[in-house]
Amino acid sequence: MERDSFVVHCPYCGRRNRVPVRKLRENPLCGNCRKPLDIRPEFLKPVDVGDADFSREVLHSSGPVLAAFWSPRCPYCRQLLPLLDETAAGYGGRIKVARIDTDRNPATASLFSIEGVPTVILFREGRAVKRMVGVLSLDEIDRNIKAVLNP
Ligand SMILES: [Zn+2]
Repeated sequence: MERDSFVVHCPYCGRRNRVPVRKLRENPLCGNCRKPLDIRPEFLKPVDVGDADFSREVLHSSGPVLAAFWSPRCPYCRQLLPLLDETAAGYGGRIKVARIDTDRNPATASLFSIEGVPTVILFREGRAVKRMVGVLSLDEIDRNIKAVLNP
């Protein structure tokens, strides 16, 4: 399903702005405070990452990365997927959201000692700074991101 707009939180005042897809690349401003929304269109949707590109896409990415380890066989993981979509869109791509299918990428799952899915790890500058295991709500994901990004 393609979106025709994204709801993006302003990084300055927090106001939610609905931005039509055709405006994403035009440096849109916040309707409330008029500051730029700093959208990174390439990360507005989660990216699928695996053993071959985890290091490049997550550990060596500039900026924070929310890495979600999941399995298509796990119903809780399937519930998590739309929340990952909302997170990527809501932060305007300022946080890269990566999805790692642990069935297909056992080496990365083992490297980070993933014992159950879903497990979501927030990375900053290549370091795992927050680990969330089990069912999550969008609020919990948000709280964890904000705790790490705005200490
Ligand atoms: Zn604003």
